[in-house]
Amino acid sequence: LGRRSEALDRGDTSELRTASRQAYLEKRKKMKVEEMQDEIIDNEFIFDGVKMTNAEEMELRRKKEIYDLVKVSVGKDADADAGDYYRMPDAYDAAANVDQAKRFAVQRQRYDDPEAAARDGKRSNFFSEQEAWEEQQIRKSRLHFGSDDGGRAGGGYELVLEGVVDFVKSTVQAGAEPDGEMDELAEAIDAKVTLQRELQDERKNLPVYKFKDDLLKAIDKYQVLIIVGETGSGKTTQIPQYLHEAGYTAKGKKIACTQPRRVAAMSVAARVAQEMGVKLGHEVGYSIRFEDCTSDKTVIKYMTDGMLLREFLGEPDLASYSVVMVDEAHERTLSTDILFGLVKDIARFRPDVKLLISSATLNAEKFSDFFDEAPIFKIPGRRYKVDIHYTTAPEADYIAAAVVTVLQLHVTQPAGDILLFLTGQEEIETVEEMLKQKMRTFGGKMAELVICPIYANLPTELQAKIFEPTPEGSRKVVVATNIAETSLTIDGIKYVIDPGFCKLKSYNPRTGMESLRVEPISKASADQRAGRSGRTGPGKCFRLFTEYNFRNDLDDDTVPEIQRSNLANVVLRLKALGINDLVSFDFMDPPASEALLKALEELFALGALNSRGELTKTGRRMAEFPLDPMLSKAIVASEKYKCSEEVVTIAAMLSAGNAVFYRPKDKLVHADTARQAFHAGNVGDHVALLNVYNAWKESGYSSQWCRENFVQPRTMKRARDVRDQLEALLERVEIEHCSGVGDLGAITKAVTAGYFRNAARRQKDGSYRAVKSRQTVFVHPSSGMAEVTPSWVVYHELVLTTKEYMRQVTELKPEWLLEIAPHYYQRRD
Ligand code: ADP
Ligand code: MG
Repeated sequence: LGRRSEALDRGDTSELRTASRQAYLEKRKKMKVEEMQDEIIDNEFIFDGVKMTNAEEMELRRKKEIYDLVKVSVGKDADADAGDYYRMPDAYDAAANVDQAKRFAVQRQRYDDPEAAARDGKRSNFFSEQEAWEEQQIRKSRLHFGSDDGGRAGGGYELVLEGVVDFVKSTVQAGAEPDGEMDELAEAIDAKVTLQRELQDERKNLPVYKFKDDLLKAIDKYQVLIIVGETGSGKTTQIPQYLHEAGYTAKGKKIACTQPRRVAAMSVAARVAQEMGVKLGHEVGYSIRFEDCTSDKTVIKYMTDGMLLREFLGEPDLASYSVVMVDEAHERTLSTDILFGLVKDIARFRPDVKLLISSATLNAEKFSDFFDEAPIFKIPGRRYKVDIHYTTAPEADYIAAAVVTVLQLHVTQPAGDILLFLTGQEEIETVEEMLKQKMRTFGGKMAELVICPIYANLPTELQAKIFEPTPEGSRKVVVATNIAETSLTIDGIKYVIDPGFCKLKSYNPRTGMESLRVEPISKASADQRAGRSGRTGPGKCFRLFTEYNFRNDLDDDTVPEIQRSNLANVVLRLKALGINDLVSFDFMDPPASEALLKALEELFALGALNSRGELTKTGRRMAEFPLDPMLSKAIVASEKYKCSEEVVTIAAMLSAGNAVFYRPKDKLVHADTARQAFHAGNVGDHVALLNVYNAWKESGYSSQWCRENFVQPRTMKRARDVRDQLEALLERVEIEHCSGVGDLGAITKAVTAGYFRNAARRQKDGSYRAVKSRQTVFVHPSSGMAEVTPSWVVYHELVLTTKEYMRQVTELKPEWLLEIAPHYYQRRD
């Protein structure tokens, strides 16, 4: 104790830490291991029974505070009622469709290349790895907390404090020498203290920190403020915290911060929760489609722009928010653009609300103009010099070029991590596999290369990997989609490789069809990407295209999404908000009137609007579902056909992602047999999905069952979550739960009521002709109908790979089209 107070006097923290650890260990020695475990689980630090001096007690209390942080991780799995908030965000809905959608010509060639296809085939390993990981998580949670919940909470994520949980595990398992454990626990706690200090230091080092007071003053003074600052300056993570500290969350009000991407919303929320030392979902939470990780306590809410849009339905004046921060405004997503108009309107009649529009590009005048000359607050950037390198000739295959460039940089360049931009999950997995293979061939001759993929569908726990510091002597290569352009800041990047492409939605107003295409990026994007290498020091950017390309072929800016989208969903939402006059809606860049008309037409055909363009009862019900209007319509129509149970299941399965089945390379035959069983009787892909779900349900939602049937447990869990939510919405729109077991006709009719525009007729040569777009299309080889080829089919979506394929196909009787959509189809004699 003498040593302790001396150390305190001198302010020598290292000695203090050692000394306090010793005091702590003394105390702990008096306790039994069992008590320790209970203590860990209950998270009660016991000071009683041990007499302590004030200084000692203070030190221990401080440590208890830190120890409470451990709960952030441990508590997650331990909370029995955590199911609602801590469900694992795994595979994601729309983005799954997005990622699976149409691919680019270069990639198409790859599929003509058998070697490349074989490489791609290797990806099936990914699934088994994923499963193994899940298993491990489930085991872990059982070990710690004796809970057996069928693995639902078992996949809990430990973004923050992985190591600590491992420690708890070893205590329970091994029952090792108490001394060793205490040491470890003490060390873990010390690590926490250090981490928290470091986090606070890091916060102070961000460029925005110096402007904290000025910024708060400006926000206080102006109702609308445009905030501009380089990526990584701290806009997203810091400003909501400053506002919270400054009292904007008093009186039960919340701060909303929107993100265009789900991964960003989750990752940033996790980071901010960590910085504030709170449990994710408590004071700091996030809300994305089908997943609400917030609670009554939540005051800082990160959410996708689409979710805030949905909140307008329930709370048209957003009264529960004191501040709305529309972040990453430069991305100009469809939802962000609609939000602009809506929040501008709110600001007029709610003088108490503050509006922040934050953006990474310096070209913010446009935002200022739109928001009635709102002032622009510039956070001076900290961007180091970036050398740009171009290829001397265009690259035919940017995937191959990217892989070679990564290896080249790895061998020739001094320390520093690499960031490679690709367009989607499939490409990223291919490159990951190629890099791993190359590294294996080089054996130990090269320094280690840590490959970190990041895309929307990546499980959260793996997402956290990109933020982990690179181990000494190795180099990290982050292989990312556009998400790393401005949404996520990754430290330590010195080299950027930019093939110059991204996946963009495009829309054909003639057919009303939307598709995802790989397109060249804009100059603005290319500059953003390059900038990612110059955040902490001078960087280098390697563009896999020529300087001539850059100057002559790239657009200056990306066209806002609203001008290249099917607007049916947006129009339905706006109508549901009572905004009838779409032509005079305050758009920053109005969509083409042709696209608006097409959307109105589509909604009219679905029965969501009447001939005067007003929302019908059907339309009102449809708007409640966070789904595509066609899928919402199928659900609403299921009432009439008395099969809501089934259609909701199908909708959940369709929304849960495309990876329902998997085919391990060594068990292709088994997998295909298992899969065919669900298609027995040529029921069609929709009913096959229903069969899968019901069989899984009957197995007690068992993972074992999934393995035996080559079904992805992750997709199924997600489908179950989605289904629960859709079912709750059924109640809300007062659609009776009814089940038409066995009546496949009824189910197909309900599906067709939504998808009648996606009908196709077989032609003589065996291909199909899409009735609406008159395109030649084919049944996707993965479909159960691939061999059956009925004369009429209804399909869920078109996917462009080597050909235009229909995915999720079911047989249709042509007279049903006349019955279900007489306004759309007429008999031609
Ligand atoms: P901005 O919004 O201005 O681009 P951010 O607030 O996103 O900046 O990032 C500020 C800092 O926080 C960056 O240095 C980044 O590395 C760090 N950061 C953000 N999210 C995470 C995370 N999930 N894990 C670790 N660090 C993070
Ligand atoms: Mg940001």
